[in-house]
Amino acid sequence: MSDKKNIQVDTLILGGGPGGYTAAFRAADLGQSVALVEKRGILGGVCLNEGCIPSKSLLHLAQIINEAGEADQFGISFAKPKLDLNGMRAHKDKVVSTLTKGLGAMAKQRKVQVLNGTGTFLSSTTLGVTGDDEAEVTFKQAIIATGSRVVQLPMFPFDDSRVMDSTDALELKEIPGTLLIVGGGIIGMEMATVYSAFGSEVSVVELMDQIIPPADSDLVKPLARMYKKRLKAIYTSVKVTKVEPRKEGLLVSFEGEGAPGATLYDRILVSIGRRPNSDAIGLEALGITPDERGFIPVNEKRQSSIAHIYAIGDITGQPMLAHKAVHEGKVAAEVIAGEPSEFSPACIPSVAYTDPELAWTGLTEKEAAEKGIAYEKGVFPWAASGRSLSNGRNEGMTKVLYDPETKRILGAGICGNNAGELLAEANLAIEMGSDLGDVSLTIHAHPTLSETFALAAEMAEGTITDLMPPKK
Ligand code: FAD
Repeated sequence: MSDKKNIQVDTLILGGGPGGYTAAFRAADLGQSVALVEKRGILGGVCLNEGCIPSKSLLHLAQIINEAGEADQFGISFAKPKLDLNGMRAHKDKVVSTLTKGLGAMAKQRKVQVLNGTGTFLSSTTLGVTGDDEAEVTFKQAIIATGSRVVQLPMFPFDDSRVMDSTDALELKEIPGTLLIVGGGIIGMEMATVYSAFGSEVSVVELMDQIIPPADSDLVKPLARMYKKRLKAIYTSVKVTKVEPRKEGLLVSFEGEGAPGATLYDRILVSIGRRPNSDAIGLEALGITPDERGFIPVNEKRQSSIAHIYAIGDITGQPMLAHKAVHEGKVAAEVIAGEPSEFSPACIPSVAYTDPELAWTGLTEKEAAEKGIAYEKGVFPWAASGRSLSNGRNEGMTKVLYDPETKRILGAGICGNNAGELLAEANLAIEMGSDLGDVSLTIHAHPTLSETFALAAEMAEGTITDLMPPKK
């Protein structure tokens, strides 16, 4: 432990996740002196260390196994895969360390002072740091980027190592024979993809009436159909009422229509949501009151109720996604540097990196129904996509929602291979205020999965020739 330092900076950033390091780097590039306080001893936050990146590293391995298994139907067979958990973990760890080391190097290059320790606000201009780097930091502006952590309900006995959260599951300690995933949201379904490919018999229980609840149900259907074959069971509109640790396993009781009787599982993974890290950071010393769910309210410049204190990322609320945190981080840093920046995106994409992937952006049909927004849609089924069929897949769809009067694109959804990558075009179309013609008249390469976006627009216009145009 070192002596306590007194540090003075223009901008203090609390939390070194995607929001925090982006804000720190942008602020430094714009000429601010910057201190970045992070308690985990490494930059990257949840996303790099226990979220986006480790999960995608394991999903890549799952994809290799699934594709090799499916090759059977095309006359190519591979032997049953042999899994070396050390080797698999090493792949994931190498990806994570390459990225986190890169962040450390970039912080140095930009002369961002990174302090390893836990920060607590002491007043509206000072932060105390305890840990490896004991310090008191005086700042002109601060950006709060402390992110979120998993929700742990007392009914799940987390002191039993067989009860996992997403962080435990990504450590890949063992491949359980049977695994129950509680919560069929994006994280739960990605973990179902990983563990089922690695050989576990996976069941999923979801309280809502479908998996990936925020997505439109037509987009979820192809995914649910595929997972019915891959998983042991998917229970929707069912809740877990009790978990009893027994020597031979975890005995789980359920409630709801179609709920199974009490069942033993080797392990359970609880992925029921995340809560903001707004407690224990000294918000009261700043005079900031979080909302009833613990999120910090901010304006479009990401300023809190106290003008020189900004908040970004998961701490500001849904959607809790890394790309939202990154963009908010840039906005806060730019506003502090006096630039006319604001966070007012036309759309924020969501992607489940399942197999098939499920991705959506902008308006959904669910949201349109809730808010009474008028829309029409064009849908192109991938069963008519030469590229998808060549890939051995006939499930999936591309959907475009548009304004019935102006034909402007309001939203899009894709279920199918690489949906997350394909969605980029829809994001750009929405941000640029494109209409159906802008998309359908753009020549897309054939045969690609990306042309399904133009074909969905053609379905909407009735100009499609690859299928019969829908009757108006
Ligand atoms: P965080 O990443 O949570 O970082 C906050 C940091 O602040 C942490 O490192 C924490 O240690 C630090 N901190 C907190 N309090 C203090 C304190 N008092 N003092 C010092 N430091 C402190 N998002 C996507 O967009 N795509 C994905 O594919 C994706 N996959 C995910 C998979 C999983 C399994 C999980 C759990 C999440 C996933 N997410 C994904 C969500 C994504 O990780 C978060 O939205 C993102 O990390 C939020 O960034 P942030 O900067 O707001 O906070």
